[in-house]
Formats: sequence, C-alpha cells, structure tokens
Amino acid sequence: MIVNLFVSNGVEMSVVFLDPSPGNNDGLDVESQYQMVPAGGVRRMGFWVQDDEPEDVIVYCADPNKAYLFALYTIKGHAAIQGSGYFVKRGSAIRFLIGGRDPGATVLKVETASGRPRGFLLVSVKPQLRRTYQLAIVSDPIHVPAKDLVGNNLATNMLAAAKLWLEQANISLERVGEINDVVVPMDLGDPLVIDDVDKIIAIAQASHTPQLQAADVYVYGTWNLVYRLNPNVGGSTSYNMCFIENQFTGRGGALICAHELGHFLGLQHSTGGRVDLLMQAMGISNDFLDMWDIEWTNQLPWPPRLAPGFYHAAASSVGEDQKGARGSLRSNLFAGDVRLEACAVSNPSHVTPGAIGPHVRKIQAAVMALDGADIVKAELDDARYGPSTSRAVLAYKTKRAIINRAYESQADNIVGIMTIKALDSELVDRQVGENPIRTNRCPRACDFRPPRSKDNLPSNLASAAGETRRLQNMASAGAVLPRAG
Ligand SMILES: [Zn+2]
Repeated sequence: MIVNLFVSNGVEMSVVFLDPSPGNNDGLDVESQYQMVPAGGVRRMGFWVQDDEPEDVIVYCADPNKAYLFALYTIKGHAAIQGSGYFVKRGSAIRFLIGGRDPGATVLKVETASGRPRGFLLVSVKPQLRRTYQLAIVSDPIHVPAKDLVGNNLATNMLAAAKLWLEQANISLERVGEINDVVVPMDLGDPLVIDDVDKIIAIAQASHTPQLQAADVYVYGTWNLVYRLNPNVGGSTSYNMCFIENQFTGRGGALICAHELGHFLGLQHSTGGRVDLLMQAMGISNDFLDMWDIEWTNQLPWPPRLAPGFYHAAASSVGEDQKGARGSLRSNLFAGDVRLEACAVSNPSHVTPGAIGPHVRKIQAAVMALDGADIVKAELDDARYGPSTSRAVLAYKTKRAIINRAYESQADNIVGIMTIKALDSELVDRQVGENPIRTNRCPRACDFRPPRSKDNLPSNLASAAGETRRLQNMASAGAVLPRAG
C-alpha cells in the first residue's frame, strides 16, 4: 500500500526527492523540496516515483549551466539515462549526484513522456561565502578559567560548527589569529549577566589587545551566562560577538557554537514544529538548516572586518526594521530616539548636565565607545548627566574643537546640535549596516523569526528558477526512499 505523503499544488504527489542517506544534513530540505549545491561541488539525491504515479517520468535539470546530473544508480525498479537526465519507470527509486556549476537557482523538473509536469526540486547553486572568526577566552580579576583547556575545547567546538555551516549552507568559517586573552578589568560576576550592555562594552574594550585580529565575528568562551530575566542561557550573540559557556563539549558544544554563528549570520530563532539548529525550546539538539536558513544567511552582504562590539552589515529589509520614525540621526544608537532627534535640530533641546533618561544613557554609551570615556557607575546606573558625564562630553568636544563660535570661544560640556551630529557621524563611521543585528538571545523560550519573509522566500526562489507553478511543493519531513528489492 502506498501512503501519499506528498502534496503539490494541493494535489497528492507521487514523485518525490529524498535524501539517499538520511541522518547527515547537507543542504537538502525535504519538506520544501529544496537542495543547496555548492558551485563546483556535488550533492547526493534520491528520487522516488511511487507505484500510483499514472505514467513513467523523466527528470532533468532546467538549466544545465547551473547544475547537472550524473552517477545514476537504480535502487528499485527500472531507470535509464535519457539526454541530460533520467527516464524513471513508475514504482522505481533511484539515486544520483547533482553537480553545481554557475551560481543561481534552477529546478530539477519531473515530467511525463508527453511533457506533463509532475513536480520539481528547487536547486540553489551557491558560491562559497567566506567568514573569519577569532576566538577569545574571557577572564576578570576574580574569574580565571584554565585558558589552555577551555581554549582548546572552544576551538574544537568551532571546527565542528564550521563543518555544519559548510556542508549545509556552503558558508566557510575560518579561524584567524591566536586565542585572544581578554582580561576584563572589572568583576563581571558569576553568573555573567550577558544582556547587560555595560558588560558587553567592557568585554569589547578589553578585547583590544595586541592579539586582536581583524575578523568577521569574535567568539568568546565564558563561564555561566544568564539573562536578567532568564537563567537558562548557554550562549548569546550581540552584534559581531558570540558568547559561549566554556562547559560545553562534544556534539552539544558544536551545536551551540553553530547556533550562535547562525545568529551572527542574521538568523532569529526558528518557529514552527520542525526541530532545527535555530530552534530553542529545550536546548539545541539538531543541526538541521532549512531552506530559509540557508538562503537568508547567504544573501547577506559581505561586511568589512570590524572590531568587537560594533555592528556589522545587518540583514536588510524583510520585516526587520525596528526603528521608529526617521529623523536626521543615522547611527544605530541614536536614530529614532525622539529626544536626541530633537537635540539634533533644535537649540532649546540641548541635553545638559543634570538631565536624566535613556537619551543620556545613549550619549554616555557613545562617548565610552568612541573615546573610551570613564563614567562613574552611579551615573550609568541612573542614566544621569552627572559630573563624570559632563567631563567626558567636554573632553570629547575639546578634542574635536566643537565650539559654537556664535557665542563661545571654547568647548563646553553640553550636547547641542553640533555635538550630537558629530557623535552620530562618528558612530555611523564605525558601523556598516543601517540596522544592528538584534541582540539575539538564546534563552530557552524564544519564539520569534519573521514569518512573512519566510513565506516569501520559496516563491522568490522559484521565480528566480523560472518555476512559476510553485505554490506548495512540499513533502513530508520523515519520508525515506524505499529499499532495494
Ligand atoms: Zn539562540
């Protein structure tokens, strides 16, 4: 008896592409009938024409410049080479190889001998996207991990994580430099509250050692991580910094590293029923990347190499823009802040000593980031424009000779139009994208990823492949090829 697991355009499908050796994810998303193939590389494929298919079929690649089929092996029934593709009789199962040529999207078409379409596999041929990372081990005056031990462990975990990304998404993650010894000159606490911006800034600043190398992402080994509102955190990614607890080893260590790299590459947690790498329900247990993950991470622009703690080019458009009303300020830190936008255009809206509020905290963050300003903790905690903030602002303005000659001859300690614009412009110079990658948290109950863009992706890809018929070309995730005999 045949169970019809496959649906195309709402009609039961009885032809389906499947993994010929399940258990090793290599860029096949069975449910979406999608396969990533590296340009110049090869992927295995299985194809099953079930007994209830009305006619024998031909399978071939719509664009032989992008992909080609070879190494036909008949698992069951009868099949033969026909032109650049294969003739497959009803009730037969085959496996073969897909070779990738020119990058782009194409399809393996399935048609009857009379040319009637019966289904297809989306094939996305990817050039290799290369990223670099540098490892670091965090310590502070009180917490000093055994660096050799945890450094080697982190390096091993990252190698395994890189292998997952290479095999499934053709993204190559290459380690640069030695392991950076990041000694943070403050007590970071245990557990380390990693959604505390001050701690992230402190770690970023302490990373500027002679060992620091230009890289796309910086991966830090840490002790126990928590969020203020969630103790179940094993890893966390902010901007181009991934934090991973030192305790993870083996498969678990590889998966959490690969998961955090996914956030760095622009992915949010996945939603829906499938268990995959970006799922975060009860911990990360599966390395599977679906079509959306593979396509999304590959479409990001290539960022220049940046120092830790600064934004890299973020995922563009697709429902990700969190900024509110646009004003004249452009930096990720300032743009859209109503109070600071007012400061940028109106003299009476100067921000002056004594002010309190989130806008003051942003000014403090800016002078700390740009000049390494030393602002006392009480002022930071209260977001208060106190004496040390005033000194930092004055130093910033003096250094740059920001003086309004209309009414003064030397710099003062208030933030007016010229100062906010200077801060903003310098911040913009140190970031690349318009939007920061969101602080992606990995508490074990996260449930957001833009579903709308996920829905659009198959149709965008399909139209790139010249396949307009694609609406629902979906197969069941658990399906397997029949055995020989
Ligand atoms: Zn996560």
